[in-house]
Amino acid sequence: MHRPGADPEHMTAEDFLCDFCGLCWAPERPMVEGHRGSLICGVCLAEAHRVVVLRGEGVRLSEGEICTLCLAPKDEPHWRGPASTRPAACKVCIKRSGAILEKDPESGWTRPAT
Ligand SMILES: [Zn+2]
Ligand SMILES: [Zn+2]
Repeated sequence: MHRPGADPEHMTAEDFLCDFCGLCWAPERPMVEGHRGSLICGVCLAEAHRVVVLRGEGVRLSEGEICTLCLAPKDEPHWRGPASTRPAACKVCIKRSGAILEKDPESGWTRPAT
Protein backbone atom coordinates (compact mmCIF):
# COMPACT_ATOMS: atom_id res chain seq x y z
CA MET A 1 0.00 0.00 0.00
CA HIS A 2 0.98 3.60 -0.27
CA ARG A 3 1.70 5.40 2.98
CA PRO A 4 -1.43 7.35 3.99
CA GLY A 5 -0.90 11.02 3.19
CA ALA A 6 1.93 10.38 0.72
CA ASP A 7 2.22 12.90 -2.13
CA PRO A 8 1.50 10.93 -5.33
CA GLU A 9 3.66 13.36 -7.30
CA HIS A 10 6.70 12.83 -5.09
CA MET A 11 6.72 9.22 -3.96
CA THR A 12 9.83 8.03 -2.15
CA ALA A 13 10.89 4.54 -1.04
CA GLU A 14 9.36 5.22 2.40
CA ASP A 15 5.95 5.75 0.78
CA PHE A 16 5.73 2.19 -0.55
CA LEU A 17 4.72 -0.15 2.27
CA CYS A 18 4.36 -3.90 2.19
CA ASP A 19 0.72 -4.72 3.02
CA PHE A 20 1.86 -7.85 4.85
CA CYS A 21 4.60 -6.63 7.21
CA GLY A 22 4.15 -2.85 7.02
CA LEU A 23 7.81 -2.17 6.18
CA CYS A 24 8.84 0.20 3.41
CA TRP A 25 10.58 -0.47 0.12
CA ALA A 26 14.36 -1.03 0.39
CA PRO A 27 17.00 -2.63 -1.83
CA GLU A 28 16.86 -5.82 0.28
CA ARG A 29 13.06 -5.62 0.29
CA PRO A 30 11.93 -5.43 -3.37
CA MET A 31 8.17 -5.24 -3.86
CA VAL A 32 5.60 -6.69 -6.22
CA GLU A 33 2.33 -4.91 -6.82
CA GLY A 34 -1.08 -6.53 -6.62
CA HIS A 35 -4.47 -4.95 -7.34
CA ARG A 36 -5.30 -1.43 -6.13
CA GLY A 37 -1.78 -0.54 -5.08
CA SER A 38 -1.37 -3.51 -2.73
CA LEU A 39 2.26 -4.57 -2.28
CA ILE A 40 4.10 -7.62 -1.02
CA CYS A 41 7.81 -7.48 -0.25
CA GLY A 42 10.40 -10.10 -1.11
CA VAL A 43 10.87 -11.09 2.53
CA CYS A 44 7.16 -11.80 3.01
CA LEU A 45 6.95 -13.47 -0.37
CA ALA A 46 9.80 -15.86 0.48
CA GLU A 47 8.08 -16.81 3.74
CA ALA A 48 4.71 -17.18 1.98
CA HIS A 49 6.33 -19.39 -0.64
CA ARG A 50 7.91 -21.60 2.02
CA VAL A 51 4.68 -22.04 3.96
CA VAL A 52 2.15 -22.45 1.15
CA VAL A 53 4.10 -23.80 -1.83
CA LEU A 54 6.94 -25.80 -0.26
CA ARG A 55 5.26 -27.08 2.91
CA GLY A 56 1.70 -27.19 1.61
CA GLU A 57 0.49 -25.42 4.74
CA GLY A 58 -1.36 -22.14 4.87
CA VAL A 59 -4.81 -21.17 6.06
CA ARG A 60 -8.26 -21.06 4.49
CA LEU A 61 -9.96 -17.70 4.64
CA SER A 62 -13.17 -17.15 6.57
CA GLU A 63 -16.41 -16.35 4.80
CA GLY A 64 -16.22 -12.88 3.24
CA GLU A 65 -12.43 -12.57 3.40
CA ILE A 66 -10.43 -11.93 0.25
CA CYS A 67 -6.82 -12.16 -0.91
CA THR A 68 -5.09 -8.83 -0.28
CA LEU A 69 -3.33 -9.01 -3.66
CA CYS A 70 -6.01 -10.18 -6.14
CA LEU A 71 -9.04 -9.17 -4.04
CA ALA A 72 -10.74 -12.48 -4.82
CA PRO A 73 -12.21 -14.95 -2.33
CA LYS A 74 -10.56 -18.30 -3.06
CA ASP A 75 -10.99 -21.74 -1.60
CA GLU A 76 -7.29 -22.52 -1.42
CA PRO A 77 -4.42 -22.14 1.08
CA HIS A 78 -3.37 -18.59 1.94
CA TRP A 79 -0.45 -17.10 3.78
CA ARG A 80 -1.21 -14.55 6.46
CA GLY A 81 1.15 -11.66 7.00
CA PRO A 82 2.07 -10.37 10.45
CA ALA A 83 0.41 -6.94 9.98
CA SER A 84 -2.57 -6.17 12.22
CA THR A 85 -4.87 -5.84 9.21
CA ARG A 86 -4.67 -9.65 8.84
CA PRO A 87 -3.55 -9.56 5.21
CA ALA A 88 -3.70 -12.81 3.24
CA ALA A 89 -2.08 -13.92 -0.01
CA CYS A 90 -3.55 -16.77 -2.05
CA LYS A 91 -1.38 -19.49 -3.57
CA VAL A 92 -1.91 -18.17 -7.11
CA CYS A 93 -0.73 -14.68 -6.12
CA ILE A 94 2.26 -16.08 -4.23
CA LYS A 95 3.37 -18.04 -7.30
CA ARG A 96 2.64 -15.21 -9.72
CA SER A 97 4.37 -12.56 -7.59
CA GLY A 98 7.39 -14.83 -7.16
CA ALA A 99 7.66 -15.32 -10.92
CA ILE A 100 7.49 -11.54 -11.46
CA LEU A 101 10.12 -10.81 -8.83
CA GLU A 102 12.44 -13.52 -10.12
CA LYS A 103 12.30 -12.03 -13.61
CA ASP A 104 13.42 -8.64 -12.29
CA PRO A 105 17.23 -8.82 -12.26
CA GLU A 106 17.44 -5.82 -9.92
CA SER A 107 15.46 -7.60 -7.22
CA GLY A 108 18.05 -10.34 -6.76
CA TRP A 109 15.14 -12.45 -5.51
CA THR A 110 14.91 -16.18 -6.06
CA ARG A 111 12.33 -18.69 -4.90
CA PRO A 112 13.41 -20.29 -1.65
CA ALA A 113 14.37 -23.95 -2.14
CA THR A 114 13.75 -24.94 1.47
ZN1 LIG B 1 6.59 -7.60 3.78
ZN1 LIG C 1 -4.67 -13.69 -4.63
